[in-house]
Amino acid sequence: MFGRAPKKSNNTRYYEILGVSKNASQDDLKKAYKKAAIKNHPDKGGDPEKFKELAQAYEVLSDPEKREIYDQYGEDALKEGMGGGAGAHDPFDIFSSFFGGSPFGGGSSRGRRQRRGEDVVHPLKVSLEDLYLGTSKKLSLSRNVICSKCNGKGSKSGASMTCPGCQGSGMKVSIRQLGPSMIQQMQHPCNECKGTGETINDKDRCPQCKGEKVVQEKKVLEVIVEKGMQNGQKITFPGEADEAPETVTGDIVFVLQQKDHPKFKRKGEDLFLEHTLSLTEALCGFQFVITHLDGRQLLIKSNPGEVVKPDSCKAINDEGMPLYQRPFMKGKLYIQFTVEFPDSLSPDQVKALEAILPPKPTSQLSDMELDECEETTLYDVNIEEEMRRKQQQAAQEAYEEDEDMHGGAQRVQCAQQ
Ligand SMILES: [Zn+2]
Ligand SMILES: [Zn+2]
Repeated sequence: MFGRAPKKSNNTRYYEILGVSKNASQDDLKKAYKKAAIKNHPDKGGDPEKFKELAQAYEVLSDPEKREIYDQYGEDALKEGMGGGAGAHDPFDIFSSFFGGSPFGGGSSRGRRQRRGEDVVHPLKVSLEDLYLGTSKKLSLSRNVICSKCNGKGSKSGASMTCPGCQGSGMKVSIRQLGPSMIQQMQHPCNECKGTGETINDKDRCPQCKGEKVVQEKKVLEVIVEKGMQNGQKITFPGEADEAPETVTGDIVFVLQQKDHPKFKRKGEDLFLEHTLSLTEALCGFQFVITHLDGRQLLIKSNPGEVVKPDSCKAINDEGMPLYQRPFMKGKLYIQFTVEFPDSLSPDQVKALEAILPPKPTSQLSDMELDECEETTLYDVNIEEEMRRKQQQAAQEAYEEDEDMHGGAQRVQCAQQ
């Protein structure tokens, strides 16, 4: 606005956009805006620019204070007052505040975004048994519901008055004259209606909700946990979250959290079990019973003559988890075997074993050749710890070396001076 040549302010464009005369009544404006806004709504293939212009024009002309400024000084006065036009409302907000929701029956994505209440998310702890067998859990929740006595109006008469402080816009505008042709306009939420745009007469307040429009309600939800559901899977109750007037109620969402199982681990549709065998069992055969998640006793046994090697794995078909929504199909049950070796053997045991086990590889060296070899001593180590210590040592040395280099460079510098 500074240094701009004065021009005749345009104070008819908004009327032209809405297609009404300069002395149009509030009613005329409403009708004109409603018709044009529906026709030009971007969700119905309308031009977004035209839609924005309509909202802008309506926002200004529907507000007596703004309309007066506009009629007197034109668009620029309003724009400058609002800080270069940045203070204008979202055209979709204006549209939905006008219609109290989408007139297209919720199909409008923009309308939904603005009018949708928040989803409420609850974690729901379940055992692996619950996910194997399926279960149902009853949960009692309290939530806000639209007051039944006043149908969410908050008043006995059903009437809510347009807030006299803001004419229903929820915002108040204060104007300051800064100079002969300069007006500063500031917007802030209306204090009389807390920005809702409407007030309820004290005497007319609904006795059930005290004018709050919603009341608390206890509700029991039955969550069906189906066979084969996964950790993190969501179970949604559409439209069961807090209700609020003119708002699409959000969902209540339960997120399954699988508790750890003492025996079984789950990976997708498969189950994993660890089992320790004694050396005798690993060599001579084993048989043991495991209780499955549904309480069935499974007999697990080796084939005759079979030797189970340490850390080997075996699987049983169809004893894993049931598949979600195809519970007659099941994954695999994997069993990971650990073999426990004896710590030491007596000379007699060694002799007895040597008699049965395959012979040792025979030494190719003569006694004389052996005499020439050097004796060594083996000792136990924890190889992981050993390697970690070595890495730390290497890092420490690299650091010290770096320090040395740095110090050396300094010394060179000093020598040059
Ligand atoms: Zn107000
Ligand atoms: Zn009520």
